[in-house]
Amino acid sequence: MSDSEQEAAWRRVDLFHPTPEHQLLAESLREFVSREVEPQASEYDRSEAFNLPLFKKAGDLGLLGVTLPEELGGAGMDATAAVQVMEALSTSDPGFALAVLAHAILFAQNVNVNGNEQQRKQVLPRAASGEWVCGMCMTEPQVGTDVLSLRTKATRVDGDYVIDGVKTFITNGGIDDQTLGDCFVVYAATDPGKISSFLVEKGDPGFRLGQKWADKLGMRASFTAELVFDQVRIPGSRRLGEEGEGTRQMMRNLEVERLTLAAMSLGIAQRSLRVMVEYANERKSFGVPIREHGQIQRYLAEHFAAWRSARSFVYDTARQIDLFSTGQRVLADAAKLVASQMAKAAADAAIQVLGGYGYMGEYTVERLWRDAKLLEIGGGTLEAHHKNLTKDLCRNPALLD
Ligand SMILES: Cc1cc2nc3c(=O)[nH]c(=O)nc-3n(C[C@H](O)[C@H](O)[C@H](O)COP(=O)(O)OP(=O)(O)OC[C@H]3O[C@@H](n4cnc5c(N)ncnc54)[C@H](O)[C@@H]3O)c2cc1C
Repeated sequence: MSDSEQEAAWRRVDLFHPTPEHQLLAESLREFVSREVEPQASEYDRSEAFNLPLFKKAGDLGLLGVTLPEELGGAGMDATAAVQVMEALSTSDPGFALAVLAHAILFAQNVNVNGNEQQRKQVLPRAASGEWVCGMCMTEPQVGTDVLSLRTKATRVDGDYVIDGVKTFITNGGIDDQTLGDCFVVYAATDPGKISSFLVEKGDPGFRLGQKWADKLGMRASFTAELVFDQVRIPGSRRLGEEGEGTRQMMRNLEVERLTLAAMSLGIAQRSLRVMVEYANERKSFGVPIREHGQIQRYLAEHFAAWRSARSFVYDTARQIDLFSTGQRVLADAAKLVASQMAKAAADAAIQVLGGYGYMGEYTVERLWRDAKLLEIGGGTLEAHHKNLTKDLCRNPALLD
């Protein structure tokens, strides 16, 4: 490799020296977030509604299919680009970002990797454009962390499958109280202990919206619902991959899910720091700006350092994730474990630095704090990360080399 090729290769992998494509994406995200996302964020949080027109604008800009192939309407980019999207949206509206993540990563990226040619052509252009609003159904009322004991069943009948069960906490499960989301990747047991995945669409007989989870603590701009599968009969051609491959597919998608949830944490922390710094410069007490007080300095400095460390870790992990293979579970778990707690702590510190104002909606950080809490639960709880990481580290101490 020549010197200039080596330099170019190095730049491609360095967060702080992005490629021209990543640079362009960062610029269009900055513009989209300040012009379109920020002005609506507080209102949609308060009214606990999903902003469909904004979602479609994100589709027009290519954000809903950032990792999908260009010939299917996507931007053909990598895990780093997915991190950029989730980070930038979360500086302003983590609830909206969660809806984009469920659609673009849990659904579209999942189908892109695990679907066949026909399924990808059928589904992905509609997902990339925002014509469809999509999600992924793993969690059930009785089964969350122990997802491999899920109870939803898919029974073979004359080449079709009949799906029966209930899924809950599904992001994008609905668009509003009356309207089901358009298409979902659904995990179900085809044999005891064997999981397979299927595409289920709005309009499939027996598939309906159950209860909406109203009055959520945070992420209120995303629609969370129960979905009911009452003897839903779908053609065998809607199965993704082979029968019994669902667990492997799920684990593969969880890596990029955890990475992008970690990216959301970065955005929350970055915004919290901006608010803290601005306020510490402006607010005076005892005759001086509060930035002069040692305890306030500690909040700013500690949380800046923690954010910057997590940011390096998350982007470094993104660089190592190949969207078409598995193998980075340890890093994805660890990145989310660190970043999610860092984000909640940063938002908490921001409230503290702002005193009473921090407690008020107008100053944004109380919303970020509420949104940040979800990142310690969704896509794997903190305890699930502890369990996974300990298992992997004890099995393979070479991970510490
Ligand atoms: C806003 C929101 C959006 C979501 N979106 C989706 C979605 O789009 N699709 C989807 O499929 N799911 C979604 N989820 C579900 C989410 O992934 C689950 O809530 C999460 O996996 C935890 O499952 P659970 O809620 O059933 O908790 P449980 O698994 O019942 O856990 C309860 C508590 O027990 C702990 N625990 C469980 N097992 C162990 C163990 N072995 N060791 C130690 N502690 C343990 C947990 O860490 C937790 O503290 C969403 C959830 C929320 C709140």
